[in-house]
Amino acid sequence: MSSAWQSYRYWARLRWILFFGMIVWFFAVAIVSEAIGHWNRNIGHGAYFAGMGAWMLPLLYANWRANNFRCPRCNQYFFRTLWYYNGFARKCVHCGLPKWADP
Ligand SMILES: [Zn+2]
Repeated sequence: MSSAWQSYRYWARLRWILFFGMIVWFFAVAIVSEAIGHWNRNIGHGAYFAGMGAWMLPLLYANWRANNFRCPRCNQYFFRTLWYYNGFARKCVHCGLPKWADP
């Protein structure tokens, strides 16, 4: 497998790990910020949004990196054109290179 695909696989996997981890993390943040909120309401709210944001930023970044993967053959965006997007595309939407195929 070419290094371009290895890079794509890294970001795509990280996106799913962060996505499912988010569910667990959000419960943890909700419980902890709730407990802090009993002691100080404002700090509880701050902890809630800081905790959520701390997880969302890497998730959004990994998602962005995976969605904007460039085709190893034509160097265009693999999953989208200006007017079309398919995150589950099995082949490049520009040149038709199959997913995971060597250019
Ligand atoms: Zn292509």
